[in-house]
Amino acid sequence: MKKVIYMLTTILLLGACTHDKQGGNGPTDDGIDSAFAYKADRFADIEILRYPVPGFNSLSLPQKELIYYLSQAALEGRDILWDQHNRYNLTIRRVCEGVYENYMGDKTSEEWKQFETYLKQIWMANGIHHHYSEDKIMPQFSRDYFVSLVKGVDPGRMPFRDGMAADEALTEILPVMFDPTVIPKRMNQTPGTDIVATSAVNFYEGVTQQEVEAFYNAKKEPANETPVSYGLNSKVTKVNGVVTEQVWKLGGMYDKAIERIIGWLEKAAVVAENDHQKEIITLLIDYYRNGDLKRFDDYSVKWVTDTASRVDFINGFMETYTDPLGLKGSWESMVNFKSEEASKRTQIISDNAQWFEDHSPIDDRFKKEKVKGVSAKVITAAILGGDCYPATPIGINLPNADWIRRDHGSKSVSIDNITFAYAKAAEGNGFNEEFMWSDSERELAKKYGPLTDNLHTDLHECLGHGSGKLLPGVSSDVLQAYGSPLEEARADLFALYYLADPKLVELGLLPDREAYKTAYYSYLMNGAITQLTRIQPGKEIEEAHMRNRALISRWVVDQSQAANVVELIQRDNKTYVVINDYEKLRALFGALLSEVQRIKSEGDYVAGKNLVESYGVKVDPKLQEEVLARYAALNLAPYKGFVNPVYQLVTDKNGKVTDVTISYDESYVDQQLRYSRQYSVLPLKN
Ligand code: ZN
Repeated sequence: MKKVIYMLTTILLLGACTHDKQGGNGPTDDGIDSAFAYKADRFADIEILRYPVPGFNSLSLPQKELIYYLSQAALEGRDILWDQHNRYNLTIRRVCEGVYENYMGDKTSEEWKQFETYLKQIWMANGIHHHYSEDKIMPQFSRDYFVSLVKGVDPGRMPFRDGMAADEALTEILPVMFDPTVIPKRMNQTPGTDIVATSAVNFYEGVTQQEVEAFYNAKKEPANETPVSYGLNSKVTKVNGVVTEQVWKLGGMYDKAIERIIGWLEKAAVVAENDHQKEIITLLIDYYRNGDLKRFDDYSVKWVTDTASRVDFINGFMETYTDPLGLKGSWESMVNFKSEEASKRTQIISDNAQWFEDHSPIDDRFKKEKVKGVSAKVITAAILGGDCYPATPIGINLPNADWIRRDHGSKSVSIDNITFAYAKAAEGNGFNEEFMWSDSERELAKKYGPLTDNLHTDLHECLGHGSGKLLPGVSSDVLQAYGSPLEEARADLFALYYLADPKLVELGLLPDREAYKTAYYSYLMNGAITQLTRIQPGKEIEEAHMRNRALISRWVVDQSQAANVVELIQRDNKTYVVINDYEKLRALFGALLSEVQRIKSEGDYVAGKNLVESYGVKVDPKLQEEVLARYAALNLAPYKGFVNPVYQLVTDKNGKVTDVTISYDESYVDQQLRYSRQYSVLPLKN
């Protein structure tokens, strides 16, 4: 519910940017030099990058060992996510990989290349639906060609487990892969349809939206101040006509993968940095063993209160973006360690959290009297797993349970080495030259872009999501599917509003009162214009963060028409954002923040729906056509994913660990194939 997903505005970074942010962790040590290969692969609408892990070699041996075991645990959950996304995903992937590795025929034909691209695409999406648009990825090779490939491989070399024959597998997966009307969307949010029955995700099977809602409504305890996250770790099915949960735990669904995750966590517990961290790992193991959501809350409380450990990690069923009902946690993992230097920035923000809350332009009734435990830090990602791989967020804010956030606060991180890799890969790509109005915007972006990008993320994560409160009796899920985009809008507006505050200069976070302007410009340019490149023509905006950015940008343009604050101007048949009055724009951001906070605090579903549907969903086809043409001329990939570094244990002749090495030379294809060999123990269908 609370991630800043993927690139926010980093794609806008200027060609010659040197990433001269304060306290940045530019990869200057560990042999990560100017020759570091940030670009790893390119196909369809995807570019695959590498991220450096500066500082890893300077960690202590126990810390490195801890990262190693946690990184193994992070990779063991990969197939859980694949299966969560759709129950045919594992079969399709294994059949495609079997062909890819064993087919002896012509591998130079156009159709083979299309087949290879398809495999790379589904690796990127952890399944057959696009990771961002949710649409089914349609193969650009024929069904007959695919059948010929599958039948052209020695069946003994194919991963037909469970005694399944090629014909049987094909009968099952061909319509799923090739028929555009079969499960076209991973998550369907179209109002008026049964969003459970029509979504491809494997969170529900054989049940209707009404049945699931009735099932979970019956579990609600309105008087309980500390409710568990109902439904977070289970699939809902029917057994003998009765709606039932299949829990994801040891001995339950996903047993085999969870058993291996536990195995690595047990090793990690031995080398934990301190007792608090050991307890976190132990509670997580317990929860994986018994599936008890109360135990998950115990773990979350322990986790959020650990601010001392250098190494940290997420591992489990966390974010609920991919469930149309927002209940089911997608499996994800990220292992990281604190970047000490860069964390000074977020420490300053965190130390002043109460000042920001008190001065927020929202109604006093919705303000927190005391902002609790906003812990913030800048981290270096060491491994990405599950829903954080290959596409990854640049910031994370957890836990999601409202009562834990209320009583214990939340932990916020910005992931510096990922942001850094985006910036390096975007150097010289011509984007700002094409889409910014004039040299003055480009110069500001060059001078302040990376710094304000990072600050935006910090303010969004450290303060934005944690700000404000619900009125008594208002349930956090009353906004339903509109809750996520509105929550993201709230956090973004909080960040935008304060980026222009003199307080940031006073705190030493920004050098002057000019810097924020590039954040404003880039935000509106992205939300009103350039993010349209990420939507397929004919589709609406679906993803929560994109809806949020469209909502804010287009509302502001709409509201400022009379006052001429922001305009969309045509020049040579190209549309540009022009900002005429930055101070008044700030006031508009403040006004919208106040309204979005009111909607959330009061649970005003109708107003929330109106805002999202009016500004956050629709696409202007003419504008999109223009933007796509301009974008196509730049030949850039709208989506980025990452390959992970490779860690290896070094042992002496007695088997004692003496070091952990890191290397960066594995290719995208090799890594995916290796993960499929090493970390794939689930049955074909779950
Ligand atoms: Zn967010």
